[in-house]
Amino acid sequence: MRHCEAYQGRGNLPEIASLCSPRHRLFAMSNDYYPPLLEQSFTRLPDIMYSRVKPVPVDHPVAFLLNDKLADELSIDRDWLLSEEAVQVLSGNQQLGETEAIATAYTGHQFGHPNPRLGDGRAHLLGDLLTATGERVDVQLKGSGVTPYSRQGDGRSALGPVIREYIVSEAMAALGVPTTRALAAIFSGENVWRDKGAEPGGILTRVAASHVRVGSFEYAAAGGKDCVKALADFVVQRHFNDLPDENIAYMNLLREVIKRQAKLIAQWQSFGFIHGVMNTDNMLVSGQTIDYGPCAFLDTYEPDKVFSFIDRQGRYRFSNQGPIGQWNLVRLAEALLLIMGDDRAAAVDTAQAALNDYQPLYENAYAEFMGHKIGLQSGHAVLVNELMDIMEKDSLDYTLSFRYLMQQLDSKHIYYPLAAYQPSAELLLWQNRWLEALGDDQAGALAMMQTVNPVFIPRNHLVEEAIQAANKGDTGPALTLVAATNSPFNYDAKWQRLALPPESHQVVKNTFCGT
Ligand code: AMP
Ligand code: MG
Repeated sequence: MRHCEAYQGRGNLPEIASLCSPRHRLFAMSNDYYPPLLEQSFTRLPDIMYSRVKPVPVDHPVAFLLNDKLADELSIDRDWLLSEEAVQVLSGNQQLGETEAIATAYTGHQFGHPNPRLGDGRAHLLGDLLTATGERVDVQLKGSGVTPYSRQGDGRSALGPVIREYIVSEAMAALGVPTTRALAAIFSGENVWRDKGAEPGGILTRVAASHVRVGSFEYAAAGGKDCVKALADFVVQRHFNDLPDENIAYMNLLREVIKRQAKLIAQWQSFGFIHGVMNTDNMLVSGQTIDYGPCAFLDTYEPDKVFSFIDRQGRYRFSNQGPIGQWNLVRLAEALLLIMGDDRAAAVDTAQAALNDYQPLYENAYAEFMGHKIGLQSGHAVLVNELMDIMEKDSLDYTLSFRYLMQQLDSKHIYYPLAAYQPSAELLLWQNRWLEALGDDQAGALAMMQTVNPVFIPRNHLVEEAIQAANKGDTGPALTLVAATNSPFNYDAKWQRLALPPESHQVVKNTFCGT
């Protein structure tokens, strides 16, 4: 990952913006690169599903973080990503080739209530890209100016939430969680006005398998049967092109989304990840995690933890993410019913059966993830539950508890900063029962644990620290956190500080939506 070198220093952003102009030597000096080739597949859908709208230009865009590793994965030329042209394109100042940007329309249930008018209010879909491995992905700017869906909003984003999304989404990818990715974080060179006053503005380049949300289907349903059918066909072609045809395909589409979401949310739980704003417009049918607004990882294990400032009722608390997933999928099923054949009663029955599968799918996936975290296959729910109860009662750090257990199986290597974690008396007793259950194959158990128990996660206080520094023009903390969390499973003592839970004065109590 690259960054603009001038950002290493401290200072205020406008100062740095002039220092770090697009002519800075970091950028490729010649045109010796290949810009990505975009199409705009989404415009095959009915007109009501999108609006053609250009991003609103900004004055002095500066590349803040550039993800050259992701560029390689997407077959995007690194030299292009480092070029002045890329900064102009990824800040919304310049169109890429002939492809015109669009904003997509969607609606959704927010905190359980329908909101008929949402849509990309501050995002522009530049187009989609075919990678060398045959994968098609969307390239979208977020924070790129007003669109017909902006309502009262300014179409912009502050740099802080852009940095948060960059760090956390890339960390999730490194953990192996399906997620949208971050290709670039740009400082827009302009201020945005938020509750706290003026803040530096930012633009994120987000890459997603697609941006079709449960809320996109809710919106299509309001447009009628043909609209839902067009969107479903688009999704089947993009994500599920091995499904059989017509009505069966649409039912399988529902089944497949249910399967992916059940597994995704179980995986969130296993890493102690709280999404924070599981509205239906923030759930992708591709099964990738999207919208890193008020998200956070647990430090101490608290099953009913809520971080989001606006989630007063705790609807999206950690322990409720599984059930909320199903609630959202019912909204998807309601929209898909329109195209599941003329026999509505039969369609309802089949959809209901598919929805009933969610809970066992979720529970099985959860049992498997959690079993692996303690080095066992699923079927050890009692042991896992006992461990969770102990972690809760003794306020143990969720992430380090599993690293502590790994340490018990191998005295030759160091798995976490040892002084940072004290097992409780009850945990020591549980540990004996666990070792008994493991039997002789401790090496096999450790190998399994090594792939699912991170030591480096983007803890809230570290993300906050990276954002504070970014707002002062310092990329250092963000870069270090990205580097550590991109190798989440390997403890490296040089990043010891990043493996530590927050001290009491560092604890972040609330997170805020990225507006
Ligand atoms: P989010 O909380 O990011 O999921 O956004 C919810 C809705 O509000 C989406 O339709 C966004 O496009 C819209 N939105 C959020 N922030 C802004 C903004 N600054 N300007 C315009 N629309 C916004
Ligand atoms: Mg959203």
